[in-house]
Amino acid sequence: MTAKASVRSMQLPESEGPALLVHGGAWDIPPGEWTNHERGLGEALSTGAAMLLEGAAAVDVVTEVVAGMEAHGAFDAGRGSVLTRGGFVEMDAGIMCGRRAAYGAAALLRETVHPIRLARALMEAEHALLRFAAGPEADRMAGMFGLQQEQNPWFVSARERDRHEAIARDLGTFHPSQPFHGRGTPRGTVGAVARDLSGDLAAATSTGGTPFRPEGRIGDTPLPGCGFFADDVAAASATGWGEAISASILCARAVLDDMSPVEAANSRVRDMYRRIVAPDGGGATGGLILLTARAGGAVAWTTPRMARAAWSADGTSFLVVD
Ligand code: ASP
Repeated sequence: MTAKASVRSMQLPESEGPALLVHGGAWDIPPGEWTNHERGLGEALSTGAAMLLEGAAAVDVVTEVVAGMEAHGAFDAGRGSVLTRGGFVEMDAGIMCGRRAAYGAAALLRETVHPIRLARALMEAEHALLRFAAGPEADRMAGMFGLQQEQNPWFVSARERDRHEAIARDLGTFHPSQPFHGRGTPRGTVGAVARDLSGDLAAATSTGGTPFRPEGRIGDTPLPGCGFFADDVAAASATGWGEAISASILCARAVLDDMSPVEAANSRVRDMYRRIVAPDGGGATGGLILLTARAGGAVAWTTPRMARAAWSADGTSFLVVD
């Protein structure tokens, strides 16, 4: 594949104190949705920054930040997620703590209000064979953990119901070989990576998947190394075409790369674009946030826009949807 990727990126300068990077998806976000995305990112940053300044652990910070974005409504996560072919919300999430090398993940949730809280609960579960759960059993586990539950229609927003109807009209009869990964496909997955006062790192990602997919499809988001990853050197969260991100092990590769954060983030999204052909004949698009223990952080994306924001205790911050 020789497609030329147009990669854009931003850097978070080198620092060692608390820091936070968040994203609200990478796609051609329409102007009418920018303000709402900015609001969601702004709330995420203030929640996360306040917690980090109070000395909260990175893994607690990414849990709360992502839970806030799941509740916000602007994004493809939690309430307001995009719909499957049959008109359901099905959500996936994953979380990882760098120093403990521990992760938790959940997929195909239809009733759990905060998928990231179930991922976190599974990460902390005493049973060593229980880190990743899916489907109705996973929703039931969330109930047993005491996490908030609602019926599936509660998650369906008017915006996504309209979008679903419009796609159904355009597509006619859905065919599995046409997974609707066009450039304009909404991909408002949310993610956060944080570094706490002690230098520990964590990553969390939550999604409602891609619109009009078959029920039961699981993308990259709940797969460790693909949609999220953290070790004691770096942490990453991804968004974009899930099958390509999974085939590229995007987050693990970016974290394990022996390069500067911006080179690692750029080269990983560029490689994915070059190597994997999308159904529309272009390269596989997506975005990545990456934060390191000592060398700063970066955001890189190959989509027309990416909703992204950053904060660090040394005074650096940005919040952009372009
Ligand atoms: N990566 C997500 C998925 O494929 C979608 C997205 O990031 O927008 O499920």
